[in-house]
Order: sequence, then C-alpha cells, then structure tokens
Amino acid sequence: MIRFIFILFVLVLPTGAFAQIKNLIKEEASKQTAYALELCKYLHENPELSFQEFETSVRMASELKEIGFEVTEKFAGNSVVGIYKNGEGPTVFLRTDMDALPVKENTGLPFASKKMADLDGNQVSVMHACGHDIHMSTWTGTLRTLVALKDEWKGTLMVIAQQAEEYSGGAGQAIDAGLFSKFPVPDYALAYHINPELETGQIGLRGGPVFAGVKTVEITVYGKGGHGAYPQKCIDPIVISSRIVNDLQTIVSRELSPTEPAVVTVGSIHGGTRPNIIPDEVKMELTLRYFSDETIAKVIASIKRISANAARVAGVPEDKLPLVYVLPSETPPVLNDEALSTKVSKFATEIIGQENIIETQPEMVGEDFGKYGRTEEDIPICLIWLGSTSPEEMQRLKAEGKAPYPLHSPQLNPDYENTIKTGIEVMSGNVIGLMNK
Ligand SMILES: [Zn+2]
Ligand SMILES: [Zn+2]
Repeated sequence: MIRFIFILFVLVLPTGAFAQIKNLIKEEASKQTAYALELCKYLHENPELSFQEFETSVRMASELKEIGFEVTEKFAGNSVVGIYKNGEGPTVFLRTDMDALPVKENTGLPFASKKMADLDGNQVSVMHACGHDIHMSTWTGTLRTLVALKDEWKGTLMVIAQQAEEYSGGAGQAIDAGLFSKFPVPDYALAYHINPELETGQIGLRGGPVFAGVKTVEITVYGKGGHGAYPQKCIDPIVISSRIVNDLQTIVSRELSPTEPAVVTVGSIHGGTRPNIIPDEVKMELTLRYFSDETIAKVIASIKRISANAARVAGVPEDKLPLVYVLPSETPPVLNDEALSTKVSKFATEIIGQENIIETQPEMVGEDFGKYGRTEEDIPICLIWLGSTSPEEMQRLKAEGKAPYPLHSPQLNPDYENTIKTGIEVMSGNVIGLMNK
C-alpha cells in the first residue's frame, strides 16, 4: 500500500508541482512584458540587415550581461552566445534570430523602422517584417523571467542571438564555428516564430515537419546557336528548356507519392538576346522544398534524368548534356522532435490552456533553426508558432473577408504586447518544465 501511494505520488507530483509554479511564471512574465515591449519598439525602429546586425548584437549582449549571463560576442559573425549556470540539471538551448529584411515599412507605427546605412554607405529601407524584433524581445523577457525564478529550476541555459536567419547562414555558421564543442551540448533546443494567422494568446505546435527544407538548383542547357532563320542547322536550347520546364512539373504530380509534399519551382529562366538568334545556352534556377532526405534525393535524381533526356531527344551529344548544379548551401527542414513537442504541449497546456494550442500544418517556407537538430549530437528541437494577430483584429478581418498581412509584408503589424506576453509565459513555462527540480 505504501509502495502504491509512493508510486502515485511520484506520478502525480511533476504536473502538480508545475501547476503550482505556473502562477509564479505568469506573474513574472507579465512583469517582464513591459520591459520586453519597450525593447521591441527600440529593435523595431532600428532594424539591421542579415550579416550587418552590428548594433543589435551589441544590444543583445548587453541584455544578457545585465541578466547575469556569461557572454561570447562576435561568435561566427555577429551572433551572441550566452551561458547561465544554475546547478546540476539539463542544458536547454533557446535561440532568437536578429536580422531584418530589405522591406520599406508601410505601417504608420510611431516606432516605424528607420533606414540603415548598408555596407556601401547607402541609406536603405529595412524592416523587421518577419517578427525577429518580437523574437528577440520575447527571448530577453523569457530569460529575465527564468533568472528571476531561478529557485524553481536547475540546469544550464544556453542561448544564442543568431545572425542571418533570412539568408539561412547564421545557424550553420554558429555550428561550424564550434557551437556544440566550445559550449555545452544542449539536451533540448527551443525557438519560436510569430504567426499572423494565429491569434495572440494562441501558439501553433506540431511534432514532425514544421518548415520545409530548401535547396537551390541551377540548370544550364547547352545547344548549338545560329541564325533564327536556319533552325535545321542549330540545336535550340530554348525549345529543350521549355520541354524540361514542362516535364519537371511531373516530378511532384507523377513520381512522388500523393501524400509526400514537395515543391519544384523554376523561378528564373534566361536565354537569348535577339529574336533572330538561336542562343548557345539557357540558364534556369529552381527552388526545391521537401521534408525528407529520401524525397529530395529522388527529386534531384529526377531533375537530372529529365534534363539529360530532354537534351538527348533534341540530339544533343553526350558531352554537352545539361549541367545540373545543386548549390551546397542548404536549409534543412525543421522537424520538431515528437517527444519534446509532447512535453512542450503539456507545459503550454498548463500555462494557456489546451484550447489555445493549435495544431498547425507544415509550411513550405524555410527556417534555419532546423540545422541545430541535424548535427551529429542529434539534439531534439522544437519550434513553436506564436500567434500575433489580436482576436479583435482577426474577427474584423474575417468579417471583411480579409486575411492578416503575412510575414515579410511591409504592412505586417502584430499585436506586439500580447504576442510578447504569451511568448514569455509559454517559453518560460517550457524551460522550467524541462528543468524543474
Ligand atoms: Zn523571414
Ligand atoms: Zn523569420
């Protein structure tokens, strides 16, 4: 009987204990929201482009130092790494991105973006149109909350303010520079991204694919140029390319399983100069989107087969078949670890209620957070979506048959305060849940 009671106690305690501290978390999070909101307005007003996050990274480093983190600045560029040790326990990694986009803001906000000088000294329009200002301030607010509540958890916080997410360079560069050898190997890695299609107070979560993998391919089609009036003396690479573009459409529709998502888009095609000249070559650029390594391998093999055979059909000799070049830079898919997502969902349920946890669909855009889960350390990762449109605004838009402005829009105008508040609550809850003594 005693044993039974003990087992029951052990089973019940963790959630019970978490339920008790949830009020502490919410209280502290709402205190920190005001601070984070001011920080967010500053960051929004002073955006910086990818690889040029000079002032932003200095500010992030000073925020971390003020909280009590050991800080490494200029890590693999402008990234900032922080470590906060709080006894024996797991290491939880929390990432924010820092870069803004070359977008001319059109919101009319009192803290609308200022221009920045680019590397050549030209004043250019820049905007946090992907919500990275909210990510940074929510991240800061979360860390302030966690340190204020440090008696409630044990372990190490490892954090990064990462450069160049929009170029998919920052995560890979930090990893290549020894992120997981110079610093501890995290037990869990967490991140968030705002989502205007969800309401503030809600988060979007799913185990498995969240963002697609991205690969870029260049195809050069060779022909035999000549006068447009003598096609019989030429091999026309424009005709071959047209055939290739059409046949590429059959990869997803005819070669992959209908339940396996992928995208093959030819985004640019260039060939020729004048109406009466058949050119020597045509160049195409493709973007590919996928969720599994097997799928992308298949897609690339099909692109090569289709390109080569379209050229053969036209009589192109074997040594002049199209060159299919897969660019080495890659954004892998963001695949949320199932077990970690289940834990996150449990903690988030305690904080905001199950009705506010929305199971989102995978998106075909890319996010370089996935790279942190693809190293040999095999770190479980989880990225959550933060709803960023107020329920009132969502209702108004729906009534008018409209949708919220999407990410990267010059009119993106999130409900800053409530997005940040939910972000701090939920992420603090996750970290404390994972590190709770
Ligand atoms: Zn973006
Ligand atoms: Zn983004």
